[in-house]
Amino acid sequence: MIDYPTVKLAHLPTPLQPLPALTKYLDGPNIFVKRDDCTGLAGGGNKTRKLEYIMADALAKGADTIVTVGATQSNHVRQTVAAAAKLGLKAEVLLQKSVVRDADYARNGNYMLDALMGAVIHEIEPVKDINQAGLDFCEQLNQQGRRAYYVGLGGSSVLGSLGYVQCAQELLSQTQAEGIALDHIVTASGSYGTQAGLLVGLAQERAAITLHGISVNKPAVDLRAGVLQLAQQTADYIGLSSATLPDAVICNDQYYAPGYGLPNDKMIEAVTLCARIEGLLLDPVYTGKAMAALIDMVRQGHFTKGENILFIHTGGAAALHSYRTVFEG
Ligand SMILES: *Cc1c(COP(=O)(O)O)cnc(C)c1O
Repeated sequence: MIDYPTVKLAHLPTPLQPLPALTKYLDGPNIFVKRDDCTGLAGGGNKTRKLEYIMADALAKGADTIVTVGATQSNHVRQTVAAAAKLGLKAEVLLQKSVVRDADYARNGNYMLDALMGAVIHEIEPVKDINQAGLDFCEQLNQQGRRAYYVGLGGSSVLGSLGYVQCAQELLSQTQAEGIALDHIVTASGSYGTQAGLLVGLAQERAAITLHGISVNKPAVDLRAGVLQLAQQTADYIGLSSATLPDAVICNDQYYAPGYGLPNDKMIEAVTLCARIEGLLLDPVYTGKAMAALIDMVRQGHFTKGENILFIHTGGAAALHSYRTVFEG
């Protein structure tokens, strides 16, 4: 078990549910979902678990303002703004215009919610190092006498990853209670924290479950390197020997083309299918592409009948509104 300071922001434990219609439709393995889209804070999602640890640190350091960064439709920014609002802190966010689409993308979905929750939004042109831009901006505020605290891209620090170490433990106690022996876990993976935290949490419990990180924005080699480094740092932090981490960190980059936040046909099929047969809302940027991977791996015979596959629903449905035209007709 891990025990570090947190501030309560999430509805936990999130449900573990079977997906019977999807299982039947694909006629392959048994498919389950961990509902981290139901963490509860302003639309929920995976960043809320990370923020329980990060915001405890911000409060301990006497912050009056939270600064963070992301794309225009960042779910991380939305959940961070919500956490700041709930804790009585100001939020100033840098939204990088790395994806340019239409008016819905520019102003609806997460952007609209950030503004509604009182964030001061600064839109910026794409930069090489968004974390450096965020840190510099934070420093400027501090020079003006503010007590600004910087939350890195995707909340993927060691503290943020602890949220997913804890998620792994929560999940294993649920599968144990229900007598489900998982073979594989599939999750969307972007800024490393979710996959790194799960990897450490599963290793700590010596669970023999294969974790697949589905890249949403970069080649597998780069994702793997980032996940491994953060997993090692997180293992060190909790006093777990990094020798217990698996040798192979599995990252799959076959499903994010043509790029971060840009739709593809398999994503559209996965989002539409889950909506229509399970009433389950996925998102266009992360979970739609991760579910497309899961579906394709079943069809290709990588996951077979009798196996138990868990999909981590990391959230993001708030962004559906900003991709309205993709799902029309
Ligand atoms: C941020 C995000 C992810 C990826 O999590 P990382 O920890 O950045 O890898 C997956 N799904 C959704 C919906 C997200 O917002």
